[in-house]
Amino acid sequence: MFCQQCEQTAKGQACTVIGVCGKKEEVAALQDLLIHATQGLCQYSHAARGKGFTDSATALFTAEAIFSTLTNVNFVPEDFAVRIRRAVELREAMKEKSGANFTNAAATFTPATDLDGLIKQGQAVGLNTEENEDLRSVKHIILFGLKGVAAYVDHAKILGQESPEVAAYIDKAMSEILRDDIGLDELVPLALECGEANLKAMEILNIGNTGTYGHPVPTEVPLGVKKGKALLVSGHDLKDLDLILQQTAGKGITVYSHGEILPCHGYPELKKHAHFHGHFGTAWQNQKKEFAEFPGAIVMTTNCIQDPKAYTENIFTSGLVGWPGVQHLENGDFSPAINRALAMDGFPEDTEAGSVMVGFGHNAVLGVADKIIEAVKNKDIRHFFLVGGCDGAKTGRNYYTEMAEKIPSDCIVMTLACGKFRFFDKDLGDIGGIPRLLDIGQCNDAYSAVQIAVALANAFDCGVNDLPLSFILSWYEQKAVAILLTLFHLGIKDIRLGPSLPAFITPNVLNVLVENFNVMPISTVDEDLKAILG
Ligand code: SF4
Repeated sequence: MFCQQCEQTAKGQACTVIGVCGKKEEVAALQDLLIHATQGLCQYSHAARGKGFTDSATALFTAEAIFSTLTNVNFVPEDFAVRIRRAVELREAMKEKSGANFTNAAATFTPATDLDGLIKQGQAVGLNTEENEDLRSVKHIILFGLKGVAAYVDHAKILGQESPEVAAYIDKAMSEILRDDIGLDELVPLALECGEANLKAMEILNIGNTGTYGHPVPTEVPLGVKKGKALLVSGHDLKDLDLILQQTAGKGITVYSHGEILPCHGYPELKKHAHFHGHFGTAWQNQKKEFAEFPGAIVMTTNCIQDPKAYTENIFTSGLVGWPGVQHLENGDFSPAINRALAMDGFPEDTEAGSVMVGFGHNAVLGVADKIIEAVKNKDIRHFFLVGGCDGAKTGRNYYTEMAEKIPSDCIVMTLACGKFRFFDKDLGDIGGIPRLLDIGQCNDAYSAVQIAVALANAFDCGVNDLPLSFILSWYEQKAVAILLTLFHLGIKDIRLGPSLPAFITPNVLNVLVENFNVMPISTVDEDLKAILG
């Protein structure tokens, strides 16, 4: 196996024996084969689109197939075998519609009849076969960015939103990175276009989230628990949470958020459920300890699942998530998890553990834009920091905690995604009634951060790069790659990225990014603050 798509990749280079995430060699091969099979499909979808034919069900399959290979989503070999075969069926159907006839391996391969055969086929494919390391690097950037885009497309589709432009980009980019005659002159613009497609994907997801559940409003979320039966919802999926809240209503079960579900407390149509009480635990990488301690059922709705062997009977998966031996819930029916929650002890007593505030999406923040602009003009607010991104297990991430603590008291700290769990419960006070710590939401809400930045730039009649705003980001999985490409597409410069730079970026490609965007690795907190604030 060869996988280097996430930040925790072995030795900072690549997982070659088993994934640090728990991905086994056979699953790595099947994921590579699924990407390969989907590239075969995308070539024909792309050609058919040129003839005016599109199929939204095929576009959704494509997004789901790509998303299922994102880090910590699915570890079940049979799930990939089913998708590989389906990709080839759809490829053949799309071939007929397109009238095209591609002769490359992705467009012509026939899946083996058994799992071992598929694994062998998967071991022979993958972008790692590209010999030129710089071309391979940019192809990897595009593929990993596509995995992030696919995640947003899937989330948006669940809430009834889709974008033909994004689907067209996915088909095109998946096809283009197959080409062995493509150069950096074409690949670099294709990578920036990935950022543009991702902005659109995040926009439709935002429309889906806020159109269905209302715009988030500032909301206090308890960190303590209530005596009684309990169900914990993790992942990122708002629809699953909604269904769980509906199906647990009146059953004497308290529902808690975990990880990236935390910001869901701010949505009016989700917070209206009185039994959606509070938040339990921190970021995804602490789940083995936190889930083992949770005395109720757990539902993992999307990434990031880890080996649940200590609590296999208590945890359930939904959507694209899968782990061997864990019960998968289908068709929006959460009754197995609810029954498990009812059978378990639950919490023996109420506990107090303070609270955190969520709900500072762009609608809420821009609702007090006048106050913010005045505070900047009066010099009450000196600088804005966006400190966020993915959390992870590697050492060095305490940088982000220290950064939030050391940012001077006349600065605002905006945050999003699970990186915030490094400091989400710190009381940073306020500036003239504006909280200094503003939780914009999930990683899926990066669109909100972009909207806030653009609105501030408009208000001050300048570009985003001219604002007193610094991006200090942490990355782990491939949604972060897509978001980074979006920031590059928007021309945003001086981003600080950590805890380490991606293994799939070669020195030459990094030079291009530095020259064009002045992207830089995080240093020490003191040095970075001095460089930013002077
Ligand atoms: S997803 Fe990350 S940890 Fe898992 S195999 Fe790939 S690089 Fe390794």
